[in-house]
Amino acid sequence: MADINLSRITKSFGDYRAVNQVSLDIKDGEFVALLGPSGCGKTTLLRLLAGFEEPDHGTISLGGQAVADPANGVMVNPEARNLGIVFQSYALWPHMSVARNVGYPLEVRGLGRAERDAKIAEALSIVALEPCADRSPTELSGGQRQRVALARCLVMEPRAVLLDEPLANLDVHLRETMQQAFLDFHRRTGATMIYVTHDQAEAMAMADRIAVMDKGRIRQVAAPETLYREPADHMVAGFVGAGAVLPIGDVSMRGTGRCSVRLGEAAIHARICQKAANNSDGQDLGLCLRPEDVWVDEAGTLRGSVEDCVYLGGRFRLQVRVGADQILPVYATRRARIGETVGLVISDGWVFDRSEG
Ligand code: ADP
Ligand code: MG
Repeated sequence: MADINLSRITKSFGDYRAVNQVSLDIKDGEFVALLGPSGCGKTTLLRLLAGFEEPDHGTISLGGQAVADPANGVMVNPEARNLGIVFQSYALWPHMSVARNVGYPLEVRGLGRAERDAKIAEALSIVALEPCADRSPTELSGGQRQRVALARCLVMEPRAVLLDEPLANLDVHLRETMQQAFLDFHRRTGATMIYVTHDQAEAMAMADRIAVMDKGRIRQVAAPETLYREPADHMVAGFVGAGAVLPIGDVSMRGTGRCSVRLGEAAIHARICQKAANNSDGQDLGLCLRPEDVWVDEAGTLRGSVEDCVYLGGRFRLQVRVGADQILPVYATRRARIGETVGLVISDGWVFDRSEG
Protein backbone atom coordinates (compact mmCIF):
# COMPACT_ATOMS: atom_id res chain seq x y z
CA MET A 1 0.00 0.00 0.00
CA ALA A 2 1.17 3.51 -0.63
CA ASP A 3 0.43 7.19 -0.58
CA ILE A 4 -0.84 8.59 -3.86
CA ASN A 5 0.05 12.10 -4.96
CA LEU A 6 -1.33 13.94 -7.95
CA SER A 7 0.18 17.31 -8.68
CA ARG A 8 -1.31 19.72 -11.22
CA ILE A 9 -2.46 17.00 -13.58
CA THR A 10 -3.88 18.16 -16.90
CA LYS A 11 -5.24 15.98 -19.70
CA SER A 12 -6.87 17.16 -22.92
CA PHE A 13 -8.58 15.24 -25.71
CA GLY A 14 -8.14 17.45 -28.76
CA ASP A 15 -8.77 20.91 -27.38
CA TYR A 16 -11.16 19.64 -24.68
CA ARG A 17 -9.67 19.69 -21.18
CA ALA A 18 -11.08 16.61 -19.46
CA VAL A 19 -8.82 17.05 -16.39
CA ASN A 20 -7.61 20.50 -15.47
CA GLN A 21 -4.82 21.20 -12.96
CA VAL A 22 -5.87 18.51 -10.51
CA SER A 23 -3.87 18.12 -7.31
CA LEU A 24 -4.80 15.53 -4.73
CA ASP A 25 -2.91 13.76 -1.95
CA ILE A 26 -4.24 10.47 -0.69
CA LYS A 27 -2.82 8.86 2.41
CA ASP A 28 -1.97 5.21 2.73
CA GLY A 29 -5.11 3.34 3.81
CA GLU A 30 -7.47 6.19 3.09
CA PHE A 31 -10.87 5.72 1.44
CA VAL A 32 -11.38 8.66 -0.91
CA ALA A 33 -14.43 9.19 -3.10
CA LEU A 34 -14.17 11.09 -6.37
CA LEU A 35 -17.59 12.64 -6.75
CA GLY A 36 -19.01 14.68 -9.60
CA PRO A 37 -21.60 14.84 -12.35
CA SER A 38 -21.32 12.68 -15.44
CA GLY A 39 -18.65 13.94 -17.84
CA CYS A 40 -16.67 15.89 -15.21
CA GLY A 41 -13.50 13.83 -15.72
CA LYS A 42 -13.66 11.17 -12.99
CA THR A 43 -12.93 8.18 -15.21
CA THR A 44 -10.19 10.06 -17.02
CA LEU A 45 -8.53 10.86 -13.70
CA LEU A 46 -8.72 7.21 -12.65
CA ARG A 47 -7.27 6.10 -16.00
CA LEU A 48 -4.43 8.59 -15.58
CA LEU A 49 -3.70 7.12 -12.15
CA ALA A 50 -3.86 3.58 -13.45
CA GLY A 51 -1.53 4.41 -16.34
CA PHE A 52 -3.98 3.90 -19.22
CA GLU A 53 -3.64 7.59 -20.11
CA GLU A 54 -0.60 9.83 -20.00
CA PRO A 55 -1.02 13.32 -18.54
CA ASP A 56 -0.11 16.34 -20.68
CA HIS A 57 1.29 18.10 -17.61
CA GLY A 58 1.80 17.39 -13.95
CA THR A 59 3.12 14.47 -11.94
CA ILE A 60 1.65 11.35 -10.38
CA SER A 61 3.55 9.47 -7.72
CA LEU A 62 2.89 6.28 -5.81
CA GLY A 63 4.66 5.74 -2.53
CA GLY A 64 6.86 8.75 -3.23
CA GLN A 65 7.97 7.45 -6.63
CA ALA A 66 6.99 9.24 -9.85
CA VAL A 67 4.98 7.02 -12.20
CA ALA A 68 3.96 9.80 -14.58
CA ASP A 69 6.00 12.92 -15.12
CA PRO A 70 5.95 13.97 -18.78
CA ALA A 71 8.35 16.87 -18.21
CA ASN A 72 11.00 14.29 -17.25
CA GLY A 73 9.97 11.56 -19.67
CA VAL A 74 8.60 9.28 -16.93
CA MET A 75 5.63 7.02 -17.78
CA VAL A 76 5.42 3.75 -15.86
CA ASN A 77 3.12 1.19 -17.51
CA PRO A 78 -0.09 0.03 -15.79
CA GLU A 79 1.20 -3.46 -14.83
CA ALA A 80 4.23 -2.01 -13.06
CA ARG A 81 2.05 0.39 -11.04
CA ASN A 82 0.28 -2.58 -9.46
CA LEU A 83 -3.04 -0.92 -8.81
CA GLY A 84 -6.23 -2.98 -8.62
CA ILE A 85 -9.05 -1.75 -10.78
CA VAL A 86 -12.74 -2.58 -10.55
CA PHE A 87 -15.10 -1.22 -13.17
CA GLN A 88 -18.84 -0.97 -13.42
CA SER A 89 -18.88 -3.88 -15.86
CA TYR A 90 -17.40 -6.93 -14.21
CA ALA A 91 -15.55 -8.36 -17.21
CA LEU A 92 -15.58 -11.94 -15.87
CA TRP A 93 -15.02 -14.90 -18.16
CA PRO A 94 -18.25 -16.91 -18.31
CA HIS A 95 -16.55 -20.17 -19.32
CA MET A 96 -14.25 -20.17 -16.24
CA SER A 97 -15.28 -20.96 -12.67
CA VAL A 98 -15.34 -18.18 -10.10
CA ALA A 99 -12.09 -19.50 -8.57
CA ARG A 100 -10.34 -19.59 -11.95
CA ASN A 101 -11.55 -16.08 -12.77
CA VAL A 102 -10.08 -14.85 -9.49
CA GLY A 103 -6.82 -16.75 -9.96
CA TYR A 104 -6.33 -15.95 -13.62
CA PRO A 105 -4.04 -12.94 -13.07
CA LEU A 106 -1.82 -15.22 -10.96
CA GLU A 107 -1.75 -17.85 -13.73
CA VAL A 108 -0.61 -15.13 -16.11
CA ARG A 109 2.14 -14.25 -13.64
CA GLY A 110 3.21 -17.88 -13.60
CA LEU A 111 2.50 -18.74 -9.95
CA GLY A 112 2.33 -22.43 -9.04
CA ARG A 113 -0.93 -24.22 -8.31
CA ALA A 114 -0.61 -24.45 -4.52
CA GLU A 115 0.30 -20.81 -4.04
CA ARG A 116 -2.47 -19.78 -6.40
CA ASP A 117 -5.09 -21.83 -4.59
CA ALA A 118 -4.11 -20.34 -1.23
CA LYS A 119 -4.39 -16.79 -2.54
CA ILE A 120 -7.67 -17.52 -4.29
CA ALA A 121 -9.15 -18.98 -1.11
CA GLU A 122 -8.05 -15.96 0.90
CA ALA A 123 -9.46 -13.47 -1.62
CA LEU A 124 -12.76 -15.33 -1.87
CA SER A 125 -13.02 -15.42 1.90
CA ILE A 126 -12.51 -11.64 2.12
CA VAL A 127 -15.48 -11.07 -0.20
CA ALA A 128 -17.46 -13.92 1.44
CA LEU A 129 -17.76 -15.99 -1.72
CA GLU A 130 -15.97 -19.23 -0.80
CA PRO A 131 -19.10 -21.32 -1.32
CA CYS A 132 -19.32 -20.10 -4.92
CA ALA A 133 -15.75 -21.02 -5.91
CA ASP A 134 -16.72 -23.75 -8.36
CA ARG A 135 -19.70 -22.03 -9.92
CA SER A 136 -19.81 -20.18 -13.18
CA PRO A 137 -20.14 -16.37 -12.97
CA THR A 138 -23.31 -16.71 -15.05
CA GLU A 139 -24.99 -18.38 -12.04
CA LEU A 140 -24.28 -15.43 -9.75
CA SER A 141 -26.23 -12.27 -8.93
CA GLY A 142 -24.93 -8.83 -9.93
CA GLY A 143 -23.64 -8.16 -6.43
CA GLN A 144 -21.83 -11.50 -6.27
CA ARG A 145 -20.22 -10.86 -9.66
CA GLN A 146 -19.02 -7.49 -8.46
CA ARG A 147 -17.46 -9.22 -5.44
CA VAL A 148 -15.73 -11.71 -7.75
CA ALA A 149 -14.27 -8.76 -9.66
CA LEU A 150 -13.07 -7.31 -6.35
CA ALA A 151 -11.51 -10.64 -5.33
CA ARG A 152 -9.75 -10.87 -8.70
CA CYS A 153 -8.23 -7.47 -8.10
CA LEU A 154 -7.22 -8.45 -4.53
CA VAL A 155 -5.17 -11.52 -5.40
CA MET A 156 -2.64 -9.22 -7.02
CA GLU A 157 -2.09 -7.52 -3.66
CA PRO A 158 -2.40 -4.10 -5.27
CA ARG A 159 -0.95 -0.95 -3.71
CA ALA A 160 -4.38 0.63 -3.97
CA VAL A 161 -7.81 -0.28 -5.31
CA LEU A 162 -9.46 2.00 -7.86
CA LEU A 163 -13.20 1.56 -8.30
CA ASP A 164 -15.08 3.24 -11.14
CA GLU A 165 -18.81 3.43 -10.34
CA PRO A 166 -18.76 -0.25 -9.36
CA LEU A 167 -22.37 -0.29 -8.19
CA ALA A 168 -23.98 1.69 -10.99
CA ASN A 169 -25.52 -1.44 -12.53
CA LEU A 170 -27.09 -2.74 -9.34
CA ASP A 171 -30.54 -2.06 -7.94
CA VAL A 172 -30.94 0.18 -4.89
CA HIS A 173 -31.19 -2.56 -2.24
CA LEU A 174 -28.21 -4.46 -3.53
CA ARG A 175 -26.26 -1.21 -3.74
CA GLU A 176 -26.58 -0.66 -0.01
CA THR A 177 -25.49 -4.21 0.75
CA MET A 178 -22.53 -3.83 -1.57
CA GLN A 179 -21.56 -0.47 -0.06
CA GLN A 180 -21.33 -2.30 3.25
CA ALA A 181 -19.28 -5.07 1.60
CA PHE A 182 -16.79 -2.51 0.26
CA LEU A 183 -16.58 -0.84 3.66
CA ASP A 184 -16.00 -4.17 5.41
CA PHE A 185 -13.38 -4.95 2.82
CA HIS A 186 -11.68 -1.62 3.51
CA ARG A 187 -11.68 -2.24 7.28
CA ARG A 188 -10.32 -5.74 6.93
CA THR A 189 -7.56 -4.98 4.47
CA GLY A 190 -6.69 -1.35 5.25
CA ALA A 191 -6.29 -0.88 1.49
CA THR A 192 -6.05 2.58 0.01
CA MET A 193 -9.25 3.01 -1.99
CA ILE A 194 -10.33 5.52 -4.58
CA TYR A 195 -14.00 5.22 -5.31
CA VAL A 196 -15.54 7.04 -8.26
CA THR A 197 -19.23 7.84 -8.10
CA HIS A 198 -21.74 10.45 -9.27
CA ASP A 199 -23.97 9.59 -6.31
CA GLN A 200 -23.42 12.00 -3.42
CA ALA A 201 -25.24 9.82 -0.90
CA GLU A 202 -22.98 6.91 -1.79
CA ALA A 203 -19.85 9.06 -1.46
CA MET A 204 -21.01 10.42 1.91
CA ALA A 205 -21.86 6.98 3.25
CA MET A 206 -18.51 5.46 2.34
CA ALA A 207 -15.59 7.82 2.13
CA ASP A 208 -13.18 9.25 4.72
CA ARG A 209 -12.78 12.20 2.36
CA ILE A 210 -14.58 13.27 -0.77
CA ALA A 211 -13.02 15.13 -3.70
CA VAL A 212 -15.77 16.96 -5.59
CA MET A 213 -15.03 17.39 -9.29
CA ASP A 214 -16.69 19.65 -11.83
CA LYS A 215 -15.63 20.34 -15.41
CA GLY A 216 -12.25 18.71 -14.97
CA ARG A 217 -11.37 20.55 -11.78
CA ILE A 218 -11.44 19.57 -8.12
CA ARG A 219 -13.68 22.05 -6.31
CA GLN A 220 -13.22 20.86 -2.74
CA VAL A 221 -11.66 17.97 -0.85
CA ALA A 222 -13.03 17.38 2.62
CA ALA A 223 -14.62 14.94 5.04
CA PRO A 224 -18.31 14.28 4.23
CA GLU A 225 -19.58 16.33 7.21
CA THR A 226 -17.45 19.31 6.22
CA LEU A 227 -18.61 19.19 2.60
CA TYR A 228 -22.18 19.10 3.76
CA ARG A 229 -21.94 21.77 6.45
CA GLU A 230 -19.30 23.99 4.85
CA PRO A 231 -19.37 23.72 1.06
CA ALA A 232 -16.65 25.85 -0.50
CA ASP A 233 -18.67 27.13 -3.41
CA HIS A 234 -21.91 27.19 -5.29
CA MET A 235 -21.35 23.96 -7.18
CA VAL A 236 -20.49 21.93 -4.09
CA ALA A 237 -23.35 23.43 -2.06
CA GLY A 238 -25.83 22.45 -4.74
CA PHE A 239 -24.39 19.06 -5.64
CA VAL A 240 -23.80 17.65 -2.17
CA GLY A 241 -26.91 17.18 -0.05
CA ALA A 242 -30.36 18.66 -0.18
CA GLY A 243 -31.23 22.22 0.63
CA ALA A 244 -31.42 25.65 -0.88
CA VAL A 245 -28.61 27.81 -2.16
CA LEU A 246 -29.64 31.44 -2.24
CA PRO A 247 -27.79 34.46 -3.57
CA ILE A 248 -27.58 37.10 -0.85
CA GLY A 249 -26.29 40.63 -0.54
CA ASP A 250 -24.23 41.90 2.35
CA VAL A 251 -24.10 40.35 5.80
CA SER A 252 -23.30 41.77 9.22
CA MET A 253 -20.48 40.06 11.00
CA ARG A 254 -21.13 38.72 14.50
CA GLY A 255 -17.68 37.73 15.65
CA THR A 256 -15.29 35.26 14.09
CA GLY A 257 -16.97 32.91 11.69
CA ARG A 258 -20.49 34.09 12.52
CA CYS A 259 -22.75 36.54 10.79
CA SER A 260 -26.31 37.65 10.42
CA VAL A 261 -28.14 37.59 7.09
CA ARG A 262 -31.46 39.21 6.17
CA LEU A 263 -33.95 37.00 4.42
CA GLY A 264 -37.28 38.73 3.89
CA GLU A 265 -38.47 39.84 7.34
CA ALA A 266 -36.14 37.53 9.18
CA ALA A 267 -32.56 37.84 10.39
CA ILE A 268 -30.75 34.53 10.21
CA HIS A 269 -27.70 33.69 12.27
CA ALA A 270 -25.28 31.80 10.09
CA ARG A 271 -21.73 30.55 9.94
CA ILE A 272 -19.54 32.23 7.35
CA CYS A 273 -16.36 31.02 5.64
CA GLN A 274 -13.21 33.13 5.95
CA LYS A 275 -13.17 34.12 2.30
CA ALA A 276 -16.77 35.29 2.41
CA ALA A 277 -16.10 37.14 5.68
CA ASN A 278 -13.33 39.07 3.95
CA ASN A 279 -15.84 39.97 1.26
CA SER A 280 -18.77 40.56 3.64
CA ASP A 281 -19.87 43.79 1.97
CA GLY A 282 -19.56 42.25 -1.49
CA GLN A 283 -22.39 41.11 -3.72
CA ASP A 284 -21.18 37.63 -4.47
CA LEU A 285 -22.23 35.73 -1.38
CA GLY A 286 -24.34 32.60 -1.23
CA LEU A 287 -26.37 31.18 1.66
CA CYS A 288 -26.72 27.42 1.94
CA LEU A 289 -29.65 26.23 4.04
CA ARG A 290 -30.07 22.53 4.83
CA PRO A 291 -33.62 21.28 5.40
CA GLU A 292 -32.91 20.10 8.96
CA ASP A 293 -32.03 23.68 9.94
CA VAL A 294 -35.37 25.11 8.86
CA TRP A 295 -38.45 24.54 11.04
CA VAL A 296 -42.11 25.20 10.57
CA ASP A 297 -43.04 27.32 13.57
CA GLU A 298 -45.92 29.75 13.87
CA ALA A 299 -43.66 32.13 15.81
CA GLY A 300 -41.27 32.37 12.84
CA THR A 301 -40.94 35.85 11.38
CA LEU A 302 -40.12 34.44 7.96
CA ARG A 303 -43.43 33.66 6.24
CA GLY A 304 -43.80 31.44 3.23
CA SER A 305 -46.37 29.61 1.22
CA VAL A 306 -46.35 25.81 0.93
CA GLU A 307 -45.83 24.68 -2.67
CA ASP A 308 -45.43 20.99 -2.10
CA CYS A 309 -45.68 18.43 0.68
CA VAL A 310 -44.31 14.88 0.47
CA TYR A 311 -44.42 12.21 3.17
CA LEU A 312 -40.98 10.62 3.58
CA GLY A 313 -41.98 8.13 6.29
CA GLY A 314 -41.54 9.57 9.78
CA ARG A 315 -41.57 13.14 8.54
CA PHE A 316 -42.79 15.40 5.75
CA ARG A 317 -40.73 17.41 3.34
CA LEU A 318 -42.24 20.71 2.31
CA GLN A 319 -41.17 23.10 -0.40
CA VAL A 320 -41.90 26.56 0.93
CA ARG A 321 -41.79 29.66 -1.25
CA VAL A 322 -40.36 32.71 0.50
CA GLY A 323 -40.09 35.83 -1.61
CA ALA A 324 -40.48 35.87 -5.37
CA ASP A 325 -38.18 33.04 -6.46
CA GLN A 326 -36.77 31.43 -3.37
CA ILE A 327 -37.94 27.96 -2.47
CA LEU A 328 -36.75 26.33 0.76
CA PRO A 329 -36.96 22.61 1.41
CA VAL A 330 -38.12 22.12 4.99
CA TYR A 331 -38.81 19.06 7.15
CA ALA A 332 -42.02 19.07 9.16
CA THR A 333 -43.74 16.72 11.58
CA ARG A 334 -47.23 17.35 10.20
CA ARG A 335 -48.76 17.42 6.76
CA ALA A 336 -49.27 20.91 5.32
CA ARG A 337 -51.85 22.06 2.81
CA ILE A 338 -50.64 23.32 -0.56
CA GLY A 339 -51.02 27.10 -0.52
CA GLU A 340 -50.99 27.28 3.29
CA THR A 341 -48.96 30.12 4.80
CA VAL A 342 -46.46 28.94 7.40
CA GLY A 343 -43.94 30.63 9.66
CA LEU A 344 -40.34 29.42 9.48
CA VAL A 345 -37.51 29.48 11.98
CA ILE A 346 -34.01 29.00 10.62
CA SER A 347 -31.53 27.76 13.19
CA ASP A 348 -28.38 27.66 11.08
CA GLY A 349 -26.95 28.51 7.67
CA TRP A 350 -23.64 28.68 5.84
CA VAL A 351 -22.42 31.70 3.90
CA PHE A 352 -19.82 31.15 1.18
CA ASP A 353 -18.21 33.22 -1.53
CA ARG A 354 -19.82 32.80 -4.93
CA SER A 355 -17.33 34.87 -6.85
CA GLU A 356 -15.66 31.83 -8.41
CA GLY A 357 -18.85 29.80 -8.74
P1 ADP B 1 -16.87 10.95 -16.04
O1 ADP B 1 -16.22 9.65 -15.74
O2 ADP B 1 -16.80 11.93 -14.91
O3 ADP B 1 -18.29 10.79 -16.50
P2 ADP B 1 -14.97 11.07 -18.22
O4 ADP B 1 -13.64 11.16 -17.56
O5 ADP B 1 -15.38 9.76 -18.77
O6 ADP B 1 -16.08 11.66 -17.24
O7 ADP B 1 -15.01 12.13 -19.41
C1 ADP B 1 -14.70 13.49 -19.24
C2 ADP B 1 -14.80 14.18 -20.58
O8 ADP B 1 -13.73 13.77 -21.43
C3 ADP B 1 -16.08 13.86 -21.32
O9 ADP B 1 -16.52 15.03 -21.97
C4 ADP B 1 -15.65 12.81 -22.33
O10 ADP B 1 -16.46 12.87 -23.48
C5 ADP B 1 -14.22 13.22 -22.63
N1 ADP B 1 -13.39 12.04 -22.96
C6 ADP B 1 -13.08 11.03 -22.13
N2 ADP B 1 -12.27 10.13 -22.74
C7 ADP B 1 -12.09 10.59 -24.00
C8 ADP B 1 -11.33 10.12 -25.14
N3 ADP B 1 -10.63 8.98 -25.08
N4 ADP B 1 -11.39 10.86 -26.27
C9 ADP B 1 -12.09 12.01 -26.32
N5 ADP B 1 -12.80 12.52 -25.29
C10 ADP B 1 -12.81 11.81 -24.14
MG1 MG C 1 -16.98 7.73 -15.73
